[in-house]
Amino acid sequence: KKITIAIDGFSSCGKSTMAKDLAREIGYIYIDSGAMYRAVTLYCLRHGLFHGDEVDTDRLKTALPHIDIAFKLNPETGKPQTYLDGALVEDDIRTLAVSSKVSIVAALGFVREAMVSLQQQMGREKGIVMDGRDIGTTVFPDAELKIFVTASPEIRAQRRYDELQAKGEKGSYEEILENVKERDRIDTSRAVSPLRKADDAIELDNSHMTISEQKEWLAARFRK
Ligand code: C5P
Repeated sequence: KKITIAIDGFSSCGKSTMAKDLAREIGYIYIDSGAMYRAVTLYCLRHGLFHGDEVDTDRLKTALPHIDIAFKLNPETGKPQTYLDGALVEDDIRTLAVSSKVSIVAALGFVREAMVSLQQQMGREKGIVMDGRDIGTTVFPDAELKIFVTASPEIRAQRRYDELQAKGEKGSYEEILENVKERDRIDTSRAVSPLRKADDAIELDNSHMTISEQKEWLAARFRK
C-alpha cells in the first residue's frame, strides 16, 4: 500500500537529493515544493515586481492565478524539471538571485495559500515524496512518514557553494553562508506556517553523514 512521505528541513541540507533518490528507489513521484516558490520568485524578478526587498503584492495578487507552474520529466534523464508559463526554468530558479529573494515571496500568506493548494492537488494520489518546509505540518499533516532534516549552517553553505562552483556560478562562500542563515531566519520566523518540525516527524541531522549513509538511514525508515 502506497503512502505519502513528507521531507522537511532547512535550506541546502540535502533534502531534495534524499527525496529524489528515495522516490526513484521505491517508484514514487517526487515533488519539489521549493521549486514552486522559486518559480513565483523568478516571475517577480522577470516582471519587475521587486522594489529592493519589497514585492509589489497588488500586482502579484493579480498575476498569481495566471502563473503556470508545472513539472515535466526530462525524457533523457527521467528527472522532473520545473516549467514557468511553459518555459523550462530548472536552472534559472536555482541562481543566487532567486535564492536571495525566495524567502520574501514564500512569507506572503496569499502565495502560500495558492502553493499549498497546488501541492495538495499534485499529491492527492498516494505514492509521493514531497520536500519543503511545511509539508509535514501544513500540506500533508496526515503523511504516514515525516522526516525533518537538519545540518549546521556552515556545512550547508559549503555544500551549496560546491554545487554552484560545479555549475560555474558566481558567489563567495561568505555570501552563501549569509544567504543560508538569512533564509533560516525568515523561514522560521514568518507568521504563516513557519518552518518547524512536526511533532510526529523523525529528525535526521546529516552534518556528518555521506549521501550513501543517509540513503541507508532513510531506506530503513521507509521499511519500518
Ligand atoms: O527548498 P528550497 O531551498 O528550494 O526552497 C526555497 C525557499 O522556498 C525556502 O527558503 C523557503 O523560503 C521557501 N519554501 C517554503 N515552503 C516550502 C518550500 C520552500 O516556504 N514548502
